[in-house]
Amino acid sequence: MTPQHRLAPSLGIRSAAFALLACGALLAVEGWNTWRGYEMRIAEVTSSTASITQGLVQHTEDLFDRADLLLTQLAERIGQDGTAPAALDRLNVLLRREAERPPPALSFFVYDAQGRWLASSLPETPRDANNADRGYFRHHRDQADGSLLVGPPLRSRSRGNWIITLSRRLQDPAGNFAGVALATIDARYFAGFFASHDLGRDGAVAMFRADGVLLSRNPFLEEQVGADHSALPLFRDQLPRAAAASAWITSPFDGAQRLNSYRRASRYPVVIAAAISEREALRPWRRDLVVRLVAAALVILLLTSVGLRLAGQVHRRHKTEQALAESEATFRLLAENSSDMVSRLGLDGRRTYVSPSGERLMGRSAADLVGQPADGFIDPEDLPPVRSAIARLRAGEADEATVTYRIRRPDGTPLWLESALRVTRDIQTGEADGVVAVSRDVTERREQELRLAALATTDGLTGLANRRAFDEALALEWHRAARGGLPLSLLLLDVDRFKKYNDHYGHQAGDACLQRVAEAVRDRARRLGDVAARYGGEEMALLLPDTPVSVAVEMAEKLRLSLQERALPHADNPPHAVVTASIGVAGIIPEMLSSFGPEALLAAADSALYSAKHQGRNQVMMALEIPPAARSALPPNNEAARLEAVQGYAAAIAASPGDPELQRITRLAARLFGAPMAALSLVERERQIFVARSGLEATETPRDVAFCAHLVAPSEEILVVPDAAADARFAQNPLVTGGLGLRFYAGAPLVVPDTDLHLGALCVLDQTSHAPLDELQQAVLKDLAALAVARMTQVRHASAD
Ligand code: GH3
Ligand code: MG
Ligand code: MG
Repeated sequence: MTPQHRLAPSLGIRSAAFALLACGALLAVEGWNTWRGYEMRIAEVTSSTASITQGLVQHTEDLFDRADLLLTQLAERIGQDGTAPAALDRLNVLLRREAERPPPALSFFVYDAQGRWLASSLPETPRDANNADRGYFRHHRDQADGSLLVGPPLRSRSRGNWIITLSRRLQDPAGNFAGVALATIDARYFAGFFASHDLGRDGAVAMFRADGVLLSRNPFLEEQVGADHSALPLFRDQLPRAAAASAWITSPFDGAQRLNSYRRASRYPVVIAAAISEREALRPWRRDLVVRLVAAALVILLLTSVGLRLAGQVHRRHKTEQALAESEATFRLLAENSSDMVSRLGLDGRRTYVSPSGERLMGRSAADLVGQPADGFIDPEDLPPVRSAIARLRAGEADEATVTYRIRRPDGTPLWLESALRVTRDIQTGEADGVVAVSRDVTERREQELRLAALATTDGLTGLANRRAFDEALALEWHRAARGGLPLSLLLLDVDRFKKYNDHYGHQAGDACLQRVAEAVRDRARRLGDVAARYGGEEMALLLPDTPVSVAVEMAEKLRLSLQERALPHADNPPHAVVTASIGVAGIIPEMLSSFGPEALLAAADSALYSAKHQGRNQVMMALEIPPAARSALPPNNEAARLEAVQGYAAAIAASPGDPELQRITRLAARLFGAPMAALSLVERERQIFVARSGLEATETPRDVAFCAHLVAPSEEILVVPDAAADARFAQNPLVTGGLGLRFYAGAPLVVPDTDLHLGALCVLDQTSHAPLDELQQAVLKDLAALAVARMTQVRHASAD
């Protein structure tokens, strides 16, 4: 593993940690902001309820001041004026006037020392009512203290509603108890007044006496008025410490938690607490909190998903890198320990890597191999299939291919290699990025195959008889025909424009095509003795014993059509664009069998095939007859021995160029026959060479145009062509139609005396026609030829010594 791979997981952890940290920081900031918001909101609510409380206390004190002022005045008046009826009437007027001033909640009463009503702010003061049983009355009667008493709430005797009482003691000048002056305030008045201050939906205001007795409340609860709340922490703990403060208090009335601001009036024993419900107090803060929480959640979600994705990517990349490193290590391990050569080729066909065994196998250093084209040392003969396999891989037609080919090592030794090629692809994109080739030495196997192939009789690709088997069959059938006096025919087939087929469809498709063509040929070999063979490459042969050439031509035509009808596509073969073949047919009649060898039949069929190609392909042509008249002479049946003799003479005479004796004989012949040219020819396998010539520029011509070639059969004694242009056998001969413009020919064979082998001819030539030779002239020409053979034999023996 490289350091990079070790880093990868910690990078993943780090990115996760970063995302966590970012989320944490965000939450911390949000938490702090929220807490700050909460505190600020509480402070805001506290200050607003505190100021409401202060206003309420102020108003209460003002009202109490007014009531107390009047009570004080009453006490003074009664002290001065007494309680005579006239004085009481004046009092009633005063009290009524005072009660009429707003707010309309105040009422005033005066009682004598026995509790009887003396005066009131009521329209009619009841005369027989007595209030001596009231708490405030007993308080003032029993205690000489002249201060104001704020009593507990009472039910009014006159109206039945809850009232708050303020009272003072009346005394005569001597200081004796003289009655009570009382001011009452409707408890509901306070509830109404408190309600005018907005404390939200669940807000509440309560007014207590300093000892914890509830005086009034908004919302007003009839049954709670007068209740004793002295046990509340407000009275037990908080008020003793501070006259005004704020605190969270659970309501004793409805159990709701509220933020209370309480304040004790400075001049009266009264406490007012204004409270706002927790829900109401925190509503804006809560709304804000929800928005913040949603925003934070979104941001965290985003961060988390980005973090997760990042971590996933890092993880995947790490995995890929790990897999890559592992496969690379495996590849190297295999490549470097394998006896096979493993090489890697780039898209440009050059090697980018060669395993160590490659150097051993190829006998070349890595530097000679890497960076070089992979087909560099391949035998040119084996290049086409290799190139076509690579082209197919490149074109994406296949992912694998196997090719067998020869290479030459630096020391010249050939080596058969078999390479399995496989396209490699980029892991990420899937695009082809090169080829891996595993090559092994198959020299031994290949040689064995070749040895076996030499023994085999069928062609591996097509299953037809191979060339060797065909040659044997032809020789056999030739003899059988000669013995039985039967005709023998031969078809030679060549696929049209097959090179182009390979170029267009590839060598492998070419092989498949040949198999289909072979089927067509095999279909025609229906009789016992018929031999269908692969003659070579894309040429096939069909040997037909006991078949006259006219029947063979018909069969050839059927074969041609059956192939065409198979409609195997061949785009580059106009006009049909299907695979077609040209066929040459030759047949030999029994009478001629003794004068020729099987080569003659092959050569005739081949030359017919050649014509078929020249006439435009996809057709059948027949050799006119054997020996063909307008065609080249066919080899005689002793051709092999003859060629051997020719070779011996040609080698010896070539060693003494322009033998003067042979030159002289040639010149003599020309002069004797009144011809401008004469030559002494040796007819070899493919050509005739002139070992002496007179008046003639050329040193050789192809055998198939040579007139002299017509003289090499053992039966030939002389050939005279007075006017070649008028002779059907030679009218189309290039020597006649071409630049030489030959018209007259007379030749006598060069016959080796002991063996009767015809080496070539002594001939005289002219560009104008001559009369035919008479008997004497023929004998002279033959004698000159015999003279030439004698001289040639002499030269040959001389060179052998
Ligand atoms: P035409 O005969 O019509 O004149 O044209 P051609 O292109 O067929 O020419 P020619 O006969 O000279 O070419 C023979 C070609 O056949 C050359 C070679 O590439 C191909 N060939 C020969 N043997 C094989 C074989 O076994 N398999 C494949 N695929 N191709 C072969
Ligand atoms: Mg061919
Ligand atoms: Mg061909």
